[in-house]
Amino acid sequence: MRPPWLLGRAASTAHVGPLSSMSMRFEIVTIFPEFFKSIFEHGILRRALAENLIAVGVHDLRAFTHDRHRTVDDRPFGGGEGMVLKPEPLAEALAALGIEPRTERQQIEVSALAPEGSRTRVILLSAQGLPFTQTVARELAALDRVVLLCGRYEGVDERINQLYCDQELSIGDYVLSGGELAAAVVVDAVMRLIPGVLGNEASGDFESFGVADSEIATDAEGVPRSQHGAGGLLDYPHYTRPAEFAGLCAPEVLLNGDHQQIRRWRREQQLRKTLANRPDLIERANLSLDDRRVLESIRKEAAQRDRNG
Ligand code: SAM
Repeated sequence: MRPPWLLGRAASTAHVGPLSSMSMRFEIVTIFPEFFKSIFEHGILRRALAENLIAVGVHDLRAFTHDRHRTVDDRPFGGGEGMVLKPEPLAEALAALGIEPRTERQQIEVSALAPEGSRTRVILLSAQGLPFTQTVARELAALDRVVLLCGRYEGVDERINQLYCDQELSIGDYVLSGGELAAAVVVDAVMRLIPGVLGNEASGDFESFGVADSEIATDAEGVPRSQHGAGGLLDYPHYTRPAEFAGLCAPEVLLNGDHQQIRRWRREQQLRKTLANRPDLIERANLSLDDRRVLESIRKEAAQRDRNG
């Protein structure tokens, strides 16, 4: 039986027009719709779908072909290795989703004729794209609909990018065999940031790359807590029971129940880890005066260690 998220041609045309303001919708266009089968059946993603906090449509590109072989690719002009995804099936798939070419969509948005719930971004997954980061994930989480085009082979005919796509996104500096894994990464990272998806509204803020304390509402209300907003840093290390494992003890400070001390310790760990693994993030992080003092002493400590050999 066809799973509910696997949409063919008829079903794709069914949700053209205003979309529900309740849930955010992802549309994935792919030649391997079955690839997504298990991805939506586990954990937070499954719960978000079941609770209608998000909706996902997976569209089989071959449903938008007209020949007996359901051809989606052709040889590259100019020669060279591999095949290229043809533009016509992709354009048809987008039309079935009610997606106009980019310039027409932009005109509608500028003229304020855009119906409510229609903030859409069309994204081409591509190794040549802009880096997909938590900041981009936050931007996407504020939209009504995100359309993800999965390339295969050598990629997608560039005219689809030129005509329809608002953005090319890359999930990292490596080449995958298809855009499906990248699309799954984008859906997963974005949906966690949609209000109500994570158990605790603010928990996304306390993770790696999360926002700063000043942007977290609970701070203003003075609610005591043992975490800092990440402010663009990496997360701190986590421990659970047993308190001693393989001769290693969980840090004492985490066991004493003093929120302020725990908070200070965790912040220092965030700074240490970010400095060690991702020093580039420190430059852009939202750091307090205290953070800068702690960083300074971590750096001095490291310099001292180097001197001692
Ligand atoms: N010729 C392309 C290049 O050198 O950039 C690589 C094509 S790749 C084999 C096939 C498809 O995988 C791409 O069209 C894209 O959709 C997807 N893909 C590969 N690497 C990716 C990445 N780092 N991020 C997002 N999508 C990627």
